[in-house]
Amino acid sequence: GSLLTLVWVIVCVGCVSGPSERAGGKRRGPVRIGFSLDTLKEERWQRDRDLFVAKAKELGAETLVQAANSDDALQLQQAENLLTQGIDVLVVVPHNAETSAAIVELAKKQGVPVISYDRLIRHADVDLYVSFDNLRVGEMQARYLLDRAPAGNYVLIEGAPTDNNAHLYHEGHMKVLGPAVKSGKVKIVLEQWAREWLPSEALKHTENALTQANNQVAAVVASNDGLAGGVVQALEEQGLAGKVLVSGQDADLAALQRIVEGKQTMTVYKPIKLLAERAAEAAVRLARGEKVETNGVLNNGRKDVPSILLDPIVVDKNNIVDTVVKDGFHRLEDIYRNVP
Ligand code: BGC
Repeated sequence: GSLLTLVWVIVCVGCVSGPSERAGGKRRGPVRIGFSLDTLKEERWQRDRDLFVAKAKELGAETLVQAANSDDALQLQQAENLLTQGIDVLVVVPHNAETSAAIVELAKKQGVPVISYDRLIRHADVDLYVSFDNLRVGEMQARYLLDRAPAGNYVLIEGAPTDNNAHLYHEGHMKVLGPAVKSGKVKIVLEQWAREWLPSEALKHTENALTQANNQVAAVVASNDGLAGGVVQALEEQGLAGKVLVSGQDADLAALQRIVEGKQTMTVYKPIKLLAERAAEAAVRLARGEKVETNGVLNNGRKDVPSILLDPIVVDKNNIVDTVVKDGFHRLEDIYRNVP
């Protein structure tokens, strides 16, 4: 008996390096992860991809990556393609929170678990959500501005309406600004959603807001750094850059440069390395049928999705060194490149 077992073990060790295949629901061979991204447009997503792939590799897993260029049909097709290649788990950054439910359905039909990465997929049987506390991101942006401009005209540039996160940021903004609006101290002169998170949308909306408010604006709540770039451009056209408070998110290099130049007030830094690594670890565990520890839940309209929610960090000109530079997220000399 034991000799036979030994032979079997030796033979089977050989199949670990072979092509992965499903055997009775249990995996043999290295874990194969499908990573479907909406876009690589904003600076952060390339980091997400690279850090995720590196961590998965360290854990002995292989990652197949696809990016859909903000195209719903293409993202579905790419997911189909990944599933055809025999992935054991699918990690999705959805372009569209609602239509991406079809991706989840497809994967689940084939017994492949799905992780919603950074953005939540709605009305679908998602197994796990790994992200930052996005409601807090919105609160942090509005809180920072309101503490420094407790009264006056406000402009809200919200993100893409197709992105569930954009709605969470908006909710956070209103949670903080609501009481000040009620008391009459703060007036929201314009509130607009930026289609596809486009900076050009933010530019246009801010130009309109400035015209409407006769340039009397205290603060612009911009939901991410890309949008903040459009906002600052509109302010520059009116000679108002540095005079109006502007929020942001992502700690993009261009945003940090604007912060040290005094044109943008703050950003919300999300340590992407943590997110990518936690997600890669979770993906490997789910693929192996193991348990994953979570610290929250988020309802997606269909179920309470078990979630890992990480902490976002406020960054302004005073703590850049202690946060993004210390983490190696950006180099000090790059941030100060335009400052004499
Ligand atoms: C992400 C942000 C990003 C935005 C645009 C959001 O879902 O959380 O970090 O800036 O999408 O890609």
